[in-house]
Amino acid sequence: MKIVQLIVVTFLFVACSDNKMSNSNSDKQEEQKIKSENNKPEIGSPRLVIHGGAGSILPENLTIEQRKAYEDKLTEALSAGYMILNENGTSSEAVIKAIQILEASPLFNAGIGAVLTNNETISHDASFMDGATNQAGAVAGVNQIKSPILAAYMVRLNSDHVMLSGEGAHQFAKEQELEMVSPDYFITTKRLNQLRNVKERKSPDIDPDIKDKKMGTVGACALDKFGNIAAGTSTGGMTNKKYGLIGDSPIIGAGSYANNASCAVSSTGHGEFFIRNVIAYDIASRMKYLNESLTQASNAVIEELGIKKGTGGVIALDRSGEINMPFNTKGMFRGYVTDTSGVFVRMFSDQ
Ligand code: ASP
Repeated sequence: MKIVQLIVVTFLFVACSDNKMSNSNSDKQEEQKIKSENNKPEIGSPRLVIHGGAGSILPENLTIEQRKAYEDKLTEALSAGYMILNENGTSSEAVIKAIQILEASPLFNAGIGAVLTNNETISHDASFMDGATNQAGAVAGVNQIKSPILAAYMVRLNSDHVMLSGEGAHQFAKEQELEMVSPDYFITTKRLNQLRNVKERKSPDIDPDIKDKKMGTVGACALDKFGNIAAGTSTGGMTNKKYGLIGDSPIIGAGSYANNASCAVSSTGHGEFFIRNVIAYDIASRMKYLNESLTQASNAVIEELGIKKGTGGVIALDRSGEINMPFNTKGMFRGYVTDTSGVFVRMFSDQ
């Protein structure tokens, strides 16, 4: 009797597992079908998605000239990164290039023109992750490395570590022969005025250019022709930050995450919420464990963030080429480029 029971139980178990497997296979086929119906590319077609920060970015707060300046710079970053991908470069190279262009622009809160700390100093954070190898690198609290994202990439490439900070990170960057500059190189009058206004409480933390409370971190995710994805993020953090505050941007799983098996994500927003809710990794986890699509997972995570009163957004992309850019603020500087769409740049929520 016991043997018969065992055989029955074993049969049922195998039947259930088979059924489960065939269900998930057919789910996958169905998902694949939906993707190809939506004209999603096969692996082989590269793409790049970037952001320049989320916030209460409203049309009435930007002049035509300012709008154009943001659009032009985002377009430049997308075009340069895409050219690398098109010429058989890697997703890592495209991510670094796109972010370096945004770091070099005073429009964004990264590299030159990053926001200032309470002591009127610069404190950059950046992170990078490679989806093919799951290797990652980050720097935090640096102020002399011309391109913080490149330093993060070098940590991933040429060290056994993931995150270096402050003086140690400077020393590492020098050893890697990265370009070093004086901290003053990054400080702009606009950011000094912004900090002074915040301190004197003349205004909340408003970016004077766009009369907007915004974050302005930059980030990129890319898919190369070899089917590999990567993500990177670079920031000056929050205006008037104290006590060596480090936000989410250099934290792997919060500010950046990439895994070929799920997705690449770069975040921008209220860092504490992104750290506590491990936002970038949560998107990847939903895809992995709940079998959600990139769009379902990233929309759900940003919706939950909003319920918890966290503000911000992400850019996300997967190996099938699916792209999503959800945010719960009034706007987010964002854009992507694919072989079919060309360069697509947006900043407001109703666009
Ligand atoms: N997330 C960044 C930080 O907390 C700020 C931003 O995205 O603008 O440092």
